[in-house]
Amino acid sequence: MPQQCPFCQIIQGEQEAEKVYEDEKVVAFLDIRPSARGHTLVVPKKHVSSIGQLPEEMVEGLFLGVRKTIDRLENGLNPDGFNVGWNHGQAAGQAVPHLHVHVLPRYEDDQGGPIQAVVRSEVKEDVSSIAKKIGSGSGEKPNKQRTRMSTEEERKEETMEKKKPEDSEEEDKDEEKEEDESNKSAKLQWKEMKKPKY
Ligand code: 5GP
Ligand code: ZN
Repeated sequence: MPQQCPFCQIIQGEQEAEKVYEDEKVVAFLDIRPSARGHTLVVPKKHVSSIGQLPEEMVEGLFLGVRKTIDRLENGLNPDGFNVGWNHGQAAGQAVPHLHVHVLPRYEDDQGGPIQAVVRSEVKEDVSSIAKKIGSGSGEKPNKQRTRMSTEEERKEETMEKKKPEDSEEEDKDEEKEEDESNKSAKLQWKEMKKPKY
């Protein structure tokens, strides 16, 4: 657990938070600087910075946590709707490098917009050309993090193909090493994080 991570501290009970929901996989608590009445963060109990690093078996739990959180907020605050999503990467506004889903209750007179209003850039390229690039995986400017994640995924797939039963001990060591690398990368990301823009 990266010591400076505020969400790990909340999970460990070292920092207080107004909890909305908790189970063995996730915790949901009110955002300390709410953008809306009842603004809640749903956080996996494992420290990962992005959805790509969340073990597959924890993805379902995260979204069940989102659903439970919405239920609790609906019952307690009776909002008129919700926006749900997360900031993936610094360019998208992620300040805390521990994956978290923002659940934003909406009220009819709150002057907010739809989730598409987060970015309104002019897209000059036509949709079919974009689709081809996504389909072929040949994006022209992949960011470093993406490249690293895909390489890791590819490596894992290759290992699976070559795997023999007697390789399993070696594999365990590799997994430990990978986890170490992932923690190191999380720490590095934490150091690199700039002050939040809000
Ligand atoms: P991000 O920009 O990373 O998606 O959002 C991080 C959110 O976490 C912000 O909305 C911020 O107000 C919230 N936050 C940061 N530190 C704490 C904390 O220690 N406790 C709580 N409850 N919320 C926090
Ligand atoms: Zn953390």
